[in-house]
Amino acid sequence: MPLEQLDELYREIILDHYKSPRNRAVPAEANVKAEGKNPLCGDEITLEVRVEDGVVRDVGLQGKGCSISLSSGSMMTEAIKGKPLAEATALLAGFKELMRGHEPGVELGDLEALGGVRKFPVRVKCALLAWTTLEQGLKGHNKVG
Ligand code: ZN
Repeated sequence: MPLEQLDELYREIILDHYKSPRNRAVPAEANVKAEGKNPLCGDEITLEVRVEDGVVRDVGLQGKGCSISLSSGSMMTEAIKGKPLAEATALLAGFKELMRGHEPGVELGDLEALGGVRKFPVRVKCALLAWTTLEQGLKGHNKVG
């Protein structure tokens, strides 16, 4: 179980989000919806977002899966809610860089906790799931908008 091998502070942040996930409710009038799956681990999430005037007004994530996928998803919703799309996509790019072991180039805050997961390559997909799902959803949205 990789969580036991993470630094204690990181583990606390991840467990806190896992036990009390943020932004579980489906947003009213969501206009971005994407589903993500990580079959290797059994993680399955549904992400819905309401984007208005280029800003992430509301976001909701439901799903089941391991602590890393769900806590990463919870942290993602907190990180992007209320942010302009450009900022949300910069966070997305930065988080992917972090998980590849590169400099994120943006301030990631609590998301840095997930960087410790890099020590467990099979779990990197778990940490990235919510973000790749967001990316997929936003691509569809940009096409329409
Ligand atoms: Zn997982």
